[in-house]
Amino acid sequence: MSRRRSLSTLKLVRIGEPLSRLELESMASRIREAFRDVVRRFQLLEYQPPGVEQIEAGLLTQALEQDFGGHILGITDADLLDRSVPDFFNFVFGCKDNRNHVAVVSTHRIQSRDPSRSLARLLKVSLHELGHNFGLVHHYSYEPAVDGRYCPMTKGDFNRHGERSYVRSVIDARGYHFCDSCRRFLRLTN
Ligand SMILES: [Zn+2]
Ligand SMILES: [Zn+2]
Repeated sequence: MSRRRSLSTLKLVRIGEPLSRLELESMASRIREAFRDVVRRFQLLEYQPPGVEQIEAGLLTQALEQDFGGHILGITDADLLDRSVPDFFNFVFGCKDNRNHVAVVSTHRIQSRDPSRSLARLLKVSLHELGHNFGLVHHYSYEPAVDGRYCPMTKGDFNRHGERSYVRSVIDARGYHFCDSCRRFLRLTN
């Protein structure tokens, strides 16, 4: 028996209409490229939005896990709350629940007047949370990836930046490719 586990299927689930189908497909192709070592198949799926403006991220991941199962990225325009973070600031751009293989991201706090920038931010947050799905951890070293920008797993000090500055200085500065050590980890472990 091969020691190598089979490559995964990744389900991208659009919750309501936080982005167009075309934008979802363009995100999928970038995600496919970044995870080409570990993801073989993609499914684009739809999920009825919960109809609330704020939602507990963990609850949303559990609902998606129940309905679809497996490796999932859920995309919503609802504001995501994570009360497990020991911080007074409980809103998150994205979240990976450790109890399942589900990551969720929100368009709510990363909007720009330029729609292409909003989409780029959504993609970068998605790559980060999906990185957690496949076992990657944060690094604070501002490791440039092959495209010369920060690796998607780069994490800044949120409390030092504040929300708007964090989006501009950390999220916008990330690229679409993982750094060498993250890629090596993905190849070896998945
Ligand atoms: Zn993270
Ligand atoms: Zn990295």
